Amino acid sequence: MSTPAKGQTVKGQTVKGQTIKGQTGDWEIVIGMEVHAQVLSHSKLFSGASTEFGAEPNSQVSFVDAGMPGMLPVINRKCVERAVRTGLGLKAQINLTSVFDRKNYFYPDLPTGYQISQYKSPIVGEGEVTVDLLGGESVRVGIERLHLEQDAGKMLHDQHPDQSYVDLNRAGVALMEIVTKPHMRSSEQAAAFLKKLRAIVRYLGTCDGNMDEGSMRADVNVSVCKTGGYEKFRESGDFKHLGTRCEIKNVNSVRFIAQAVEYEARRQVEVIEGGGTIRQETRLFDSKAGETRSMRSKEEAHDYRYFPDPDLLPLVLEDSWVKEIAASLPELPDGKKARFVALGLSAYDASVLVAERETADYFEEMLAAGAEAKAAANWLNNEYFGRLNKAGLSLATGPISAAANSAIVQMVASHVISGKIAKDLCDIVWKEGGDPREIVERRGLRQVTDTGAIETAVDAVIAANPDKVEEVKAKPKLAAWFVGQVMKQSGGKANPQAVNAILKVRLNLPDEG
Ligand code: ADP
Ligand code: MG
Repeated sequence: MSTPAKGQTVKGQTVKGQTIKGQTGDWEIVIGMEVHAQVLSHSKLFSGASTEFGAEPNSQVSFVDAGMPGMLPVINRKCVERAVRTGLGLKAQINLTSVFDRKNYFYPDLPTGYQISQYKSPIVGEGEVTVDLLGGESVRVGIERLHLEQDAGKMLHDQHPDQSYVDLNRAGVALMEIVTKPHMRSSEQAAAFLKKLRAIVRYLGTCDGNMDEGSMRADVNVSVCKTGGYEKFRESGDFKHLGTRCEIKNVNSVRFIAQAVEYEARRQVEVIEGGGTIRQETRLFDSKAGETRSMRSKEEAHDYRYFPDPDLLPLVLEDSWVKEIAASLPELPDGKKARFVALGLSAYDASVLVAERETADYFEEMLAAGAEAKAAANWLNNEYFGRLNKAGLSLATGPISAAANSAIVQMVASHVISGKIAKDLCDIVWKEGGDPREIVERRGLRQVTDTGAIETAVDAVIAANPDKVEEVKAKPKLAAWFVGQVMKQSGGKANPQAVNAILKVRLNLPDEG
């Protein structure tokens, strides 16, 4: 599979990266990410031990995970399937032969003394992710590779005053390490990339994407270069046009990714402009202080002495199996977005709705129940999501079903209720539940389009406000005030178009304006 051509252009739009204004000129930010995504599976990559989160320490450890002598790893087919599925979702090359290597290092949370990983021959090669940005634009981020590896255990330093404990429940759990090309150009792009990647794996069902449980964490590589350096890199593929990078380890929230990039890029510009040089190093993001700190330099980096794991044969996949998996992929965010845009939604509205699968499903349920697409999207984006946010709820925990919201939207579209009443009705259904159509009938919320009743209300307002009637002649914009008064009198039930039309006639206003 090919990587995108040079530049950051999708559909003719050129998306500018972020620039930092330094004392010596403008600087560009370049970002590449290595994301660890825990494979959604009941058992570990090479053992049958459970992967359940939050279990009693060391209750989910097999002899293989504990590195007992003589134990042999056996690959978990489910995990391989999930890696292939993810690769396909990233539009990536699937390598029918891949190799597991031992990555050797000593650490107390790693009883075997090595991690089984993939190095030179990963299961998934180059791919691509399209990332939607706030302005409605998109950028493409190249994927370098995806490989399978084991997670390590976890050190517990806070259980005893002078001893450290180790919990091996996580040891041996399957991770997918997804490595991007250095194609991100701003903190917004980096954050949006991670969100998109998370959405893709969630749609695919290959990782739960829960960053607070550590199921997804990112190492963020950041460098800066003078304006134009990135474009030269994309044209030539030569990294010499980019600055030296620092790697910020294990960032575990989308917000922190953006903050870490911002801080780190500015720090690098300051160092360089102050006459210093950036050394390649690993840094940590301290979310409380909002800054990155050096952890170890490249010189202290490990030599992992990778070699093929002698206990494992090369992993060979059948092409027909890969095709079967490809045929079973669900519709992914990009496909859904294109379909929603074809229904009349703006690119922005569509990308908001597809960002989470539950949201897209809910929206589609509203359509299936009869709502028109654009009206349903507007209602969700402008009204219902705001209410959910305010109440700290999600679509799943919120009180109004897709069918009920659909009914509200449809009643507005067919002029059964006004937009104003729709909001009141939403309040009622939110608090009391019930069928919106039935509530409208029972409470007499139907919009008044009976022109006779509206005319009476208009006349009453005009009679009560002779001064305003004078004023409106010079200031036709004041007509809106009259509309408001009439709407108020009718308890929000008058059809606003009818009110407008009648007011114009009664006040002798020009038809336009
Ligand atoms: P390593 O093997 O040392 O981890 P890689 O070449 O695999 O290094 O790169 C690791 C990550 O760093 C990748 O996501 C890559 O895109 C990113 N990266 C490489 N060079 C730069 C750079 N100059 N600026 C920003 N990110 C970079
Ligand atoms: Mg790396």
